[in-house]
Amino acid sequence: MTLVDRWEPGHSRASSSDYNRILRAIHGSDEMYTRWVREARLRWMELEQELNTELYIECGALILAEEGHSTWEEVTMPTFDKLGVPYVRVGPDELPVRFPQFDFRKVAFGLWEPEAGMVLAHRAVTETFKQFLREGGQFRRGRVTTDETETPLLDGKPLSADLVVMSCGSWLAYLFRQTLGPMLKVIRQDIVYTSTPDGDRSFDADQMPCFVDHGYGAYGVPSVYGWGVKAAIAWHATDIDLDDEDRVVDQSAIARSRQYWAYRFPRLANEIVIDQKACHISMTPDTHFIIDFHPRHSNVLIVGGCSGHLFKHGPMLGDYVAGVGLQEWGTAPRFKIGPRTSMPMSESPSGR
Ligand SMILES: Cc1cc2nc3c(=O)[nH]c(=O)nc-3n(C[C@H](O)[C@H](O)[C@H](O)COP(=O)(O)OP(=O)(O)OC[C@H]3O[C@@H](n4cnc5c(N)ncnc54)[C@H](O)[C@@H]3O)c2cc1C
Repeated sequence: MTLVDRWEPGHSRASSSDYNRILRAIHGSDEMYTRWVREARLRWMELEQELNTELYIECGALILAEEGHSTWEEVTMPTFDKLGVPYVRVGPDELPVRFPQFDFRKVAFGLWEPEAGMVLAHRAVTETFKQFLREGGQFRRGRVTTDETETPLLDGKPLSADLVVMSCGSWLAYLFRQTLGPMLKVIRQDIVYTSTPDGDRSFDADQMPCFVDHGYGAYGVPSVYGWGVKAAIAWHATDIDLDDEDRVVDQSAIARSRQYWAYRFPRLANEIVIDQKACHISMTPDTHFIIDFHPRHSNVLIVGGCSGHLFKHGPMLGDYVAGVGLQEWGTAPRFKIGPRTSMPMSESPSGR
């Protein structure tokens, strides 16, 4: 098996290269992703044992349901009940007692998922890559291109293999413009890490959960290894040119993050920015992934359309893709290449 990548796996341009990614089962009414996350969580833990390195930190996740707009959280609870996912609905009086780091203005209730947390994303990529090599996988640094028929080429020649899996993250939108153009929008999302008050451990992952702040359109992760508290203000995503744009977080994103800290975490209001990351996401209209054979090339399997929620599913997605690629099963209708439309909040898997 040969892995081809333009750069070294784990490089800074990839979506997977930030320190961490949230793992939480909350997917609204969608049972399939909810089940996948529950299984993926165990697989990440097994992988930690196998590779003898920390890859997953179970700090829990707190979803903040906005006053008057809590459909997604409301439809999640019956799904959790049905699938046996542990959670607690925490009312507005109890929230500040349990989670004193937050200011809960405009929050109707919190959905606390204790068996959630963060996957140490960059480390997971580099460690699994090493494992791939140890198990005999070959790595080739190279840039795959496509011709006018969207045949994948390496060094100007068609890639010849029984199966070619094209999982090029957001670059898929450039490689398969005809086929995926209408399905993929590539957006930029800036992430900012803030310091925490001297001597105050309450923002560390053993005391604070990951959070999804639906009303504000933000999400974030507590501090581990002194990395600081991370926040992304998701509603302010813009377009990005993947090959020509500097990966530098702009001042307006920093200003928005500061505004957010002051609003939601008053004790972080005067802290400083200690790290940052300019990231990108390929969004599909319905936020379902793409796992399907190219309509004109029966050995080319396209995998992507992460829509900002794919990393945590990694171990499950890998198995699923292998099954589709080896034709042990077909792909699910939701993953097929074809026209898609956005979903109402009551059906959305991602809450977007
Ligand atoms: C800001 C942000 C926050 C997110 N938060 C979460 C979260 O909390 N939880 C979660 O589960 N997910 C989250 N995601 C989504 C998650 O990060 C992505 O789903 C995941 O990283 C996508 O992985 P990938 O391998 O498809 O893409 P990438 O990590 O981008 O990797 C694509 C690879 O393909 C290579 N490549 C591209 N083009 C070519 C070419 N032509 N030839 C050769 N190689 C090529 C690249 O070099 C790269 O190594 C988030 C994403 C972002 C950006």
